[in-house]
Amino acid sequence: MDSILVVNAGSSSVKFQVFAVECEGRLRRTIKGQIDGIGSRPRLRANGAGGDPMADRAYPIEAVGDVPAAMEIAGAWLRNEVRIQPLAVGHRVVHGGPDFERPVLVDHGVVARLERFVALAPLHQPHNLAPIRSILAGFPAVPQVACFDTAFHRTHGPLADHYAIPHQLHAEGVRRYGFHGLSYEYISRSLPQIAPAIAKRRVIVAHLGSGASMCAMKEGLSVESTMGFTALDGLPMGTRPGQLDPGVVLYLISEKGMTAAKVQDFLYRDCGLKGLSGVSNDMRELEASTDPQAKLAVDYFTYRIGLNAGMLAAALQGLDAFVFTAGIGENSSGIRVRVAERLGWLGVALDAAANDRHSRLISAKSSLVPVYVIPTDEELMIAQHTLSLLMGGQSPNPRNERVS
Ligand code: ADP
Repeated sequence: MDSILVVNAGSSSVKFQVFAVECEGRLRRTIKGQIDGIGSRPRLRANGAGGDPMADRAYPIEAVGDVPAAMEIAGAWLRNEVRIQPLAVGHRVVHGGPDFERPVLVDHGVVARLERFVALAPLHQPHNLAPIRSILAGFPAVPQVACFDTAFHRTHGPLADHYAIPHQLHAEGVRRYGFHGLSYEYISRSLPQIAPAIAKRRVIVAHLGSGASMCAMKEGLSVESTMGFTALDGLPMGTRPGQLDPGVVLYLISEKGMTAAKVQDFLYRDCGLKGLSGVSNDMRELEASTDPQAKLAVDYFTYRIGLNAGMLAAALQGLDAFVFTAGIGENSSGIRVRVAERLGWLGVALDAAANDRHSRLISAKSSLVPVYVIPTDEELMIAQHTLSLLMGGQSPNPRNERVS
């Protein structure tokens, strides 16, 4: 059976999914797996499409010390035990910089260009590129496709793309890129089938997971985002602060004696819901907690979503639909209620029963703005891009392709 392998590699885990290529290029997910605990307590787990367990095994720490070693183990399991020889491999790559506005077939030259963006995403880009390099070395004949979290936002105009800093820095790549682009692209492609009347209109999509951001879309394209140069800006997240006065960073350096590496670690790992609550970075625990700091963290999260929605509505000059997606957006009816209350001034009103049922359309009939819950699928997006590039075309314009 022909298949596409999708790889999403981070610092401590390599997640992978396998999609069977069926007639007319339809894709069917067959395996979902990951190796996590890289460098600490490595473990391979994989399930079939229906959740049936296929593998669950622990490895000694020295066997899986880094991402390439994890990729090797996952690859050997797929080849030797599941007998998968993928037609191509699609990778999630966080940063495409200013150059890459769509997915691209990877060769050594592309890898070299993507290495330049390591400085723009030091915690993610090196881990995203590591399995690409391993596969290029070990299986040079297997086509690989890089799909970028930034690419969907390259439609931003100059006002959304700039900071008010000297032009030279913008030319060097210090820009407001925006992230979670594969998720937004999936939603953009899904909307014409789910809600054709509003798909081309002014839509705010809230991707609320352990990373969180919002995107303003017009005509199905991104016009503004809450994230910027890195995935730190905008909404508060599980462990990242979201919007922060740069003066706070100066204070940490000058008054607390923190090095750049310490500040980086602090901003990516110790802030956000975790830092503010002192309880957890997991929204489920915060919602269940009676701790006043946990309550403050949840209030802050929904308050900032409301503020940022106002900003995006201003960018769009109005609002025709609001979409919730990702872990919190898809699963927490309580957070959706609080966000909707904050958006009441824009004419948003929820249907409580539909919201509790996690229905697709959760707004009340009286709501001036329809509100949807649409589960995202970044891996399917990557598989579709990979297949399209494999078939020889450029990855098609999002406006022309159906999500299957
Ligand atoms: P990522 O892909 O960025 O790791 P996800 O989109 O999977 O994140 O979202 C993970 C987050 O979703 C978790 O940290 C958890 O806080 C939240 N989450 C998942 N299920 C629920 C739920 N039922 N209620 C509230 N929050 C939830």
